Amino acid sequence: MRFAGKTAIVTGGASGIGAAFVRRFVAEGGSVMIAELDVERAAALAAELGERVAYELVDVADAEAFAPLADKTARRFGGIDILFNNAGIGNFGLTPDMDIEQWRRCIAVNLDAVFYACRAVIPHLKARGGGAIVNTASASGMAADYGFTAYNAAKAGVINYTRCLAIDHARDNIRANSICPGPVDTPLLTSGVDEIEGLRAEWERIVPAGRFARPEEIAAVALFLASDDASGMTGATVPVDGGLTAHTGQPD
Ligand code: NAD
Repeated sequence: MRFAGKTAIVTGGASGIGAAFVRRFVAEGGSVMIAELDVERAAALAAELGERVAYELVDVADAEAFAPLADKTARRFGGIDILFNNAGIGNFGLTPDMDIEQWRRCIAVNLDAVFYACRAVIPHLKARGGGAIVNTASASGMAADYGFTAYNAAKAGVINYTRCLAIDHARDNIRANSICPGPVDTPLLTSGVDEIEGLRAEWERIVPAGRFARPEEIAAVALFLASDDASGMTGATVPVDGGLTAHTGQPD
C-alpha cells in the first residue's frame, strides 16, 4: 500500500502504460485523476476501479486546461502528491516532407504539455510539502529513430526539462525523473507496426531482450519513481527498454 492517502494526476491514463499505472496505483491505496482525450475508455476504467478514480476530458496540449484540472483534483481528493506526465503521440516524417502543423502538434502533446502540467501542479505539490513528478520520455529521446523527427526532438526535450525540474525544485522536496521505454506492446506502437508484415519480428530481433515490453513493466518503474522508495532519486533518466539503448547496434 505504497500510495495509501496519496493522489496522482495521470495524463493518458486510459490506455497502455498509463492505464497499467492507474490500476496498480489504486490497488496500492491511491486516488487518481485521469486526464484523457479518450473519455470513453477513461470512464470504463473509472467504473471498473471505483470511486478513487476520476477522469476529465483534457487535451494536454491545451495550455489553459491544467490549472482547472489541478484545482478540481485537489478539491475532490484533498491535494495532489504525484504527477505522471504520460500522454503521448507518435509521429513520422522526414524533415523536408514534414507538415508544420504535424510537427507542432507532436511537440505540443509530447513536450509542451509536460511544461503546462508541471506549471499548474507544482504549487499543489508544494502545498503538500513536496511530491513526485514522473515524465514518460522514450528510448527515442536518448537516441534517434529513422524518420521520427518531431517525436525524437520532443522526447529528448522531456529528458532535459525533467533534469531542470529536478534541480529547480529539489529543495521544495519535489522529485522529478523521466522513464525511457523501448518498444512496448500498446496501441501507440502496435497500431502502426502490425500493419507492416514482418516489422514486429524485425523490431524484436533488434531489442536485446527479444520482445516488446508489457505496459505493466514500464508502469512498475514509474510507480517506483513516484513512491517514497525512490526518495533519493531526482533528475534521473531511467531506460526501461530491454537493453535497447545499452546496445551499440553491432550485429549478433
Ligand atoms: P497508448 O496509445 O496506449 O496511450 C496513450 C494515451 O494517451 C491514450 O489513451 C490517448 O488517448 C492519450 N492521449 C494522447 N494524446 C492526448 C492528448 N492530447 N491529451 C490527453 N490524452 C492524450 O500509448 P502508450 O504506449 O501507453 O504511451 C504512453 C507514453 O509512452 C507516451 O508518452 C509514449 O510516447 C511513450 N512511449 C511509448 C512507447 C511504446 O512503444 N508504446 C515507447 C516509448 C515511449
